[in-house]
Amino acid sequence: MDESLDREIVETVRRFVDREVIPVASELEHKDEYPHGLVAKMKELGLFGATIPQAYGGLGLSFLSYAHLMSELSRGWMSLAGVINSHLIMAYLISNYGTEEQKHRFLPAMATGEKRGGLALTEPHAGSDVQSIRTTAVRDGDYYLISGTKMFITNARYGTMLAVAAKTNPHAQPAYLGISMLAVEKNERGPTVSRQLKKLGYKGLDTCEVLFEELPVPAANLIGSREGEGFKQVMSALEVGRINVAARAVGVGQAAFDSAIRYAQQRTAFGKPIAQHQAVQLLLADMGTRLQAAKLLVDNAARKKDAGERCDVEAGMAKLFASEACAKMTLDAMRVLGGYGYMAEFPVERFYRDAPLMMIGEGTNEIQALVIARGLLARNPL
Ligand SMILES: Cc1cc2nc3c(=O)[nH]c(=O)nc-3n(C[C@H](O)[C@H](O)[C@H](O)COP(=O)(O)OP(=O)(O)OC[C@H]3O[C@@H](n4cnc5c(N)ncnc54)[C@H](O)[C@@H]3O)c2cc1C
Repeated sequence: MDESLDREIVETVRRFVDREVIPVASELEHKDEYPHGLVAKMKELGLFGATIPQAYGGLGLSFLSYAHLMSELSRGWMSLAGVINSHLIMAYLISNYGTEEQKHRFLPAMATGEKRGGLALTEPHAGSDVQSIRTTAVRDGDYYLISGTKMFITNARYGTMLAVAAKTNPHAQPAYLGISMLAVEKNERGPTVSRQLKKLGYKGLDTCEVLFEELPVPAANLIGSREGEGFKQVMSALEVGRINVAARAVGVGQAAFDSAIRYAQQRTAFGKPIAQHQAVQLLLADMGTRLQAAKLLVDNAARKKDAGERCDVEAGMAKLFASEACAKMTLDAMRVLGGYGYMAEFPVERFYRDAPLMMIGEGTNEIQALVIARGLLARNPL
């Protein structure tokens, strides 16, 4: 890990966001238009390889720098972080659990963004309750035949591959021992994007229902080559996903704070800038404090992940706190901007619509609370 290189990359992304993302984000978001131009620029910057090891052509960033990079992208437009995040969750699964052959086959093309991935875990009837997924992968000679429906899948339309959770043994007890992860490259036989879903926020990005109808996938694409390891693999990958979502919440919260503190010094009421009214100062103080606390929790979780330690509790705390803080901050920013905060010509209404996703995605905040409590109880036995 080269810390100065890491800092340089985060700085480059900050400039990219200021110059190229912020000027166009609201317009693209309101049109719900996929940001092909910005995605191409992110490819050029090497962001699709952000956490892929340098040995496989990636930037090999630390998770701490990756979190900062995600906050920067989200400060401009949270959807851009989504394009990268589920792709890198798939890359994480392959880098950490794939065979050497799989790493060589997939990672270099993923690092350049030539192959772009996603994670297909959630199903129409099951999100939090991962163990009850119904998608199956049935061995048939040198292939698995995958059948099932996945829901809310980011990057499903514009990505080229998905890490798919499927049951290779639907009768396993406990059920999680029957789950495996498979790297599925899209081809003319499938999977089919059966619906593009309309959303409150997080627009521009493809979030889809995806159908698998006995889709043959080479057995060589079973991540790690041993059946039944998928649940453990995906839970570890979700630690990265949760740090990422928390970092996104920091970015959106930062954008809301920046808008509010600037506006409060420009707008006057009753003969002085509204920043001089104590009620507005209380909002700014609360926003600034929550933002700083969220940043520290994200850094703490990312450092633990960088040290190779289990960090489900820390990632859960960061995600839970940062996303709730972000939701409050975006609403408070709207209060500071008054009527203009509610108008589409200011970006605060976009921040407000983007914020709730961070409370739901990568495991709801209620599930984070359960994970945190379980971890704390295990660490503090009588
Ligand atoms: C925009 C968007 C993009 C997404 N992208 C992806 C993606 O790329 N890939 C993917 O696989 N998934 C994706 N998801 C799915 C997301 O991870 C799930 O929506 C989330 O995990 C919650 O699952 P669910 O929607 O089925 O809700 P449910 O699991 O049905 O939960 C409903 C409610 O019940 C609560 N609940 C459930 N179980 C418990 C419990 N044991 N204790 C207390 N409360 C409980 C939940 O907290 C929630 O409040 C995306 C979702 C959204 C909205």
